[in-house]
Amino acid sequence: MGTVNRLNRDDIVNGKAGKRPGNPKGGVIHNDYGAMTPQQYTPWLITRKNNGQLNLGFAPYYINSSAILRADNTNNKAWHTANNEGNAWYLGYEVVQSYYGIISDKEFIKNEDMTLRQVAEDFHYYGLKPNRDTIRLHSQFSSTSCPHRSWDLHGKSINAVKDYFITKVAKYMSLGKTVEEMLKNEGVSDPVATVPNAVTPQPDGKTVKVGKQATHWETGSTIPKFVIGQVYDVLASMPVSKSRSKKAYLIGKGKVATGWLLEQDVDGFKAAGGGNTNKATPTTKPAITGTTTETQSIAGVQMFLNRWFYGGLIVDNLAGSATNKALIKALQMELNSQFNAGLKVDGLWGAKTKNACITVREGANGNLTRLIKAALICKGYDVKGFDGKFGDGLDKAVKKFQSAKALKVDGLVGQGTFEALFK
Ligand SMILES: [Zn+2]
Repeated sequence: MGTVNRLNRDDIVNGKAGKRPGNPKGGVIHNDYGAMTPQQYTPWLITRKNNGQLNLGFAPYYINSSAILRADNTNNKAWHTANNEGNAWYLGYEVVQSYYGIISDKEFIKNEDMTLRQVAEDFHYYGLKPNRDTIRLHSQFSSTSCPHRSWDLHGKSINAVKDYFITKVAKYMSLGKTVEEMLKNEGVSDPVATVPNAVTPQPDGKTVKVGKQATHWETGSTIPKFVIGQVYDVLASMPVSKSRSKKAYLIGKGKVATGWLLEQDVDGFKAAGGGNTNKATPTTKPAITGTTTETQSIAGVQMFLNRWFYGGLIVDNLAGSATNKALIKALQMELNSQFNAGLKVDGLWGAKTKNACITVREGANGNLTRLIKAALICKGYDVKGFDGKFGDGLDKAVKKFQSAKALKVDGLVGQGTFEALFK
C-alpha cells in the first residue's frame, strides 16, 4: 500500500544546466502537450542528451499517476521555463500525457495529483510554503499555453489555477513528508498506470508523412495546409473505426503533439483488401474559441486576447499599441501551436512572422479567422460577428480593407494582407 514507481535518474541530466544559485524559491507546474509516460521519457531524455539537445528543454520531473521520473538533482538548474529566473530559481514539474485524446480528464487529474504530491514533498524538504509566489505556472515566465489542460480544468485564470494547486499542495503537505507517506495516510492503494482509450504511446522513432489526400484530423477539425507533405514523429496510436481507417496516429515533433491523423491520410496509404472509398466523415468538434461570447468591439477583442492568449490588456475599448502587440503575440502563438512555426512570441512584426502566415479564405473556421476578425474590428471594420467562422460578412470586410490598402482585392488573407492587418 502507498507506493509509487520512483525512477530516480539524476544521471540523465547530471547537472547539465549548472547549479542553482541557492535554494529554490518555488515550483513551476507544466503540462507536457504530449503522450509519453515517465518510463518512456527516460530513453527520450537520454537520446536528447546524447544528441546534445537538452537545451531544447527539460524538467527535472516527469510525473503520472503511478510513476515519478526525476531526471536531475533538484539543486541543479533546469531549462524548463525559457526564462533565466524561472530556470535558476524554480523547480519544474511536467504533468505528462496531457495532450487531449490520450487520457480522460479524470485520469489527467490523477497525474496532476501525483505531481502535486511531489511538489508537497519538495516544499517540505526546502521549507517552502505553498502560496501565489511559490506556486507558479509556466505561462507566468514565458508566452505559452502551458499548462494548457490544468488551465482548462481549473478556472482559466492564473490565480484560479494557482489557488487550486495551492490548496492541494497544502493538503498533501499536511498528510506527510514524502509522497509515500501522503499516499499511505490518504489510504490510496498502490496507484496503477492507466492508458485508457487503448492509446499506445510510441516514442520509438517511427515517423509518418502526411499524404496529399488528408483533409481532417481524427477529431474532425481541419488539417492545416502546412502540415500536408510533412514528416512527423508518431507519438502514440489508437485503434479507430472511421471510414477506411482502423488506426489513428498522434503525430508531432519532439514530444509536442500536433494532432491525431487517420491512417488513411498517411502518404501512400492503401486500405486492407481494397475496401470502400467512402470519404472520411469526421465528427464536427467546435473550435475552442468558437463558443466564446466576446462581442464585436475593441473591448471584446481585448477580453478575447486576455482570456485565450495571455493578453494582459486593460479593457478600455481603445485600439492602441498594447492591443496591437497582444494581437501579434496571439498570431505568433497560434502559428506556433497549429504549424510548429517556431516563432519567438514577442509581439513584434517581422519577416519570420510574415512568412509563417498561411492563406486563410472563406469557409475557414478557427482561431486564425478569429484573429483576422479581431484585427479588422480594431481597424473599425464590421465583420458581422466576432466568431471563428470565415463567412460572407468577413469576405466583404476583407475586400473592403484590401481595397482601402491598395492590395489585390480577392478576399484571401495571405501574407500581404496579414501584414497590412497586423503590422
Ligand atoms: Zn511548460
